[in-house]
Amino acid sequence: MTNCIKIEDSYQGYSLDSFCIPKHYEDDLESVLIPYGVIHDRIERIAKDIFTDFGKEPLVAICVLKGGYKFYTDLIDKINSLNRNQGERSVPLSVDFIRLRSYQNDKSVGTIEVIGGDNMESVKGKNVLVVEDIIDTGRTMMKLLGLLEEFQPKCVKVASLLLKRQPASNGYIPEYCGFEIPDKFVVGYALDFNERFRDLHHICVVNNNGINKYKV
Ligand code: 5GP
Repeated sequence: MTNCIKIEDSYQGYSLDSFCIPKHYEDDLESVLIPYGVIHDRIERIAKDIFTDFGKEPLVAICVLKGGYKFYTDLIDKINSLNRNQGERSVPLSVDFIRLRSYQNDKSVGTIEVIGGDNMESVKGKNVLVVEDIIDTGRTMMKLLGLLEEFQPKCVKVASLLLKRQPASNGYIPEYCGFEIPDKFVVGYALDFNERFRDLHHICVVNNNGINKYKV
């Protein structure tokens, strides 16, 4: 894993008053953990690392929906920008999507459902980059990697924007990681709590009010 930024347990985040928060969420959040601008700056560097590591070989970039969609589009945009501007070489990219679900409320339900996805035959013999929003226990990623192996890719690497310090982790560590975060439930930048908060700009910690309001 390359130079993942570690956010310590003692870090309190930023006050909501320091940023613009939609009215419909202002009572539901504890703090801003990672502002949007910082997310972007970090993704720029992850894109550069990926560009450097994959050289000229074609890459199939798979987005894990729905939580990974913002990270995915911003990451792909930045790799494409390097492709346009580096002159010497570029990484031919193709895009793919898969949808998995492992969470209800703020708890992993233990079973992982594949509830959508393209035909994965296209990964055979290719370099594959799986793009995920967050790794918590690591179960979802182990399941997905097992699934992908059946289609015989040349190599599979994982980029996860967030990696949670989770006591129940199975030890899985992605090759590319944006931020290692405390064991708190985070939302925003496409990460949801029961489908809410995906429309929030920054990555924030949800508070008890938000949990009670949106739990099912
Ligand atoms: P794992 O299988 O690693 O325990 O869980 C991975 C999935 O759980 C992620 O793709 C994400 O959907 C969900 N998840 C885990 N922690 C969080 C969190 O703090 N916030 C949100 N919104 N989703 C989470």
